[in-house]
Amino acid sequence: MRVIAEDIASHPDWIMYHDIAAAGLGACWSEPIRSTSNRILGTFAIYRRAPSLPDEHELELIENAANLIGIAIERVHAEEELHLAASIYSNSAEAVLVTDANNCIVALNPAFSKITGYTLDDIRGKNPSLLHSGRHNADFFQAMWQSITHRGFWQGQVWNRRKDGEIFPEWLTINTIQDEQGNVQRYVSMGSDITNQVRSDDLIWRQTNYDFLTDLPNRYMFQDRLAQEILKSIHEGSLLALLFIDLDKFKEVNDTYGHPIGDQLLVKSAERINSCIQETDSLARMGGDEFIVMLPKLACTIDAEKVAAQIISALAEPYPINGETIYIGASIGITFCPDDACEVDQLINNADQAMYISKSAGRNRLSYFTQALHDEARNRLKLLKDMRSAVEKREFELHFQPIIDLSNGRIVKAEALIRWNHPEHGMISPAEFIPMAEESGLIVGIGDWVFREAAAKVKRWCELFHSELQVSVNISPVQFQSLALSITDWLDYLTTLGLEAKHLSIEITEGLLLNLTDDVKDKLLQFRDAGIQVAIDDFGVGYSALSSLRKFAIDYLKIDQSFIRHIETEQNDLALCEVIVIMAHKLGLKVIAEGVETEEQSRLLLDLGCDYGQGYLFSRPLPAAKFEAFLIKDMSAD
Ligand code: C2E
Ligand code: MG
Ligand code: MG
Repeated sequence: MRVIAEDIASHPDWIMYHDIAAAGLGACWSEPIRSTSNRILGTFAIYRRAPSLPDEHELELIENAANLIGIAIERVHAEEELHLAASIYSNSAEAVLVTDANNCIVALNPAFSKITGYTLDDIRGKNPSLLHSGRHNADFFQAMWQSITHRGFWQGQVWNRRKDGEIFPEWLTINTIQDEQGNVQRYVSMGSDITNQVRSDDLIWRQTNYDFLTDLPNRYMFQDRLAQEILKSIHEGSLLALLFIDLDKFKEVNDTYGHPIGDQLLVKSAERINSCIQETDSLARMGGDEFIVMLPKLACTIDAEKVAAQIISALAEPYPINGETIYIGASIGITFCPDDACEVDQLINNADQAMYISKSAGRNRLSYFTQALHDEARNRLKLLKDMRSAVEKREFELHFQPIIDLSNGRIVKAEALIRWNHPEHGMISPAEFIPMAEESGLIVGIGDWVFREAAAKVKRWCELFHSELQVSVNISPVQFQSLALSITDWLDYLTTLGLEAKHLSIEITEGLLLNLTDDVKDKLLQFRDAGIQVAIDDFGVGYSALSSLRKFAIDYLKIDQSFIRHIETEQNDLALCEVIVIMAHKLGLKVIAEGVETEEQSRLLLDLGCDYGQGYLFSRPLPAAKFEAFLIKDMSAD
């Protein structure tokens, strides 16, 4: 508000400032300085020596002066802002391009030149469409302009072309600048080059959807495709087949020849399978040595069988790799949509189950999915569920099978063998549930129970009979590979029991030694250092060379029962057993023959120099109480 003080000495606003009046000032005429938007920026005042009032002309003068000052102040502000904007504009890493109302280029910043290669001289007055890569269709630009016109804004990814012709992805934001009437004056686009990001997105996409080794689609990609084909199959009423392929003996090849050769074999297998299918079919790698094939639009189920048979014979051809000739085979499971199922997971599961039937029927064959298979899988799931609580419910039992010193027929050892006393199904054999326990990882908890239970039992027998009995416990490779396996805990438990470690031994499989990691090696050494002996179970069925056992401080070899079974009639088996015994003794290992069922077998083994025998001839595995009675009987033979 304008304030006119005719005489400072008497004006009420000036009571506080009499000193100034005393300095010889009479009147003060002041006018507010306002911005164009009417904001107060300050005041403009004129002082006179003598008290007086302004006339009209003087008032106009004061008002004009205040207005001018207002404009001047605003301009300084605006220049400062402009300067700031200009420096952002020229230092920005983002490419800025400004066009006029007709979308003709009027300005650009250094980042724009750096990214596109164009200077302002190159493209002044031109339309930004000169940057078009040709990758977007008319609809794309129509949608872009619709957004710019209606919302004054567009944002998205664009493929543009640099001056040198290279196409690159850009993340672009386009804004409009309008005048007071709302007419567009400028279009300002700001873009950043996202080549690197897109490149890594692409890579991630490939890694997520394709198998690195064979370059085939992986499980995820395949599931997508299958989902689409299932819809088509239902819609068109056509038949679709799914073939689950698992290479036979691949693991052995990997273990024997090493992973690089295994990898080459997988690549070659993928090529062979591919050559058996048509362009409209799909092949994917599910992981490991598992492949899956989808055959859409089949005329009849037999067509799927023909393809499966072709794949089996293609994979059975010899593989010449690095001067070696390798043979493998394939087990295939087949299922159909819509006959067996119409869901992705269900179909894959079906084919997988059918493949397992081929495996257990002797491999290198194909099997169809059936309802019975489905029920069986259901039961397995139920069993797995029951297994989770079986330790707490005390449903497991340990049986003990005597191991006899062949030279004198006395019991010197026993093997602890687990049994599951299921409330509905009765006694379940370990052959049935151990693989499931391994797959699910439950074996770690179950195995812990086995070790402690076996230790407690052997402690009792050693005390009762002052014997040197040693009980062996089977340890699954899965237990060894699990971080949860704490051997220290077990050793502490033995100390608590007051049981010497020599009364326990462990049985491991050859496979464990073939895939020996440092962690597994450490665990084996921990057992050895504690004085717990180690036996190789089922020796002969795997691929480990006898000579390699020396490295691992193994104490016993248990010859697999399949070698003992025909020892009376098969010269070959007898000779093999003999070699194993001789070699083992040379390496300082003792030999236990498994599955000894007849007197004749026992005698032949003794003649070969085999140290111990285990089998139905001596005794079946017995519940603890019966085994105890067996021990008593054995002692009374003295
Ligand atoms: P394994 O360790 O090779 O055990 C020997 C198997 O041969 C036992 O089968 C035993 O009952 C059977 N057997 C013994 N003598 C004869 C014979 O004279 N003739 C025939 N035909 N068979 C005989 P079982 O008890 O069914 O165990 C099967 C497999 O389950 C075991 O093979 C072992 O690998 C595994 N297993 C058993 N208990 C455990 C355990 O507590 N933990 C782990 N991880 N595996 C276990
Ligand atoms: Mg065993
Ligand atoms: Mg065995």
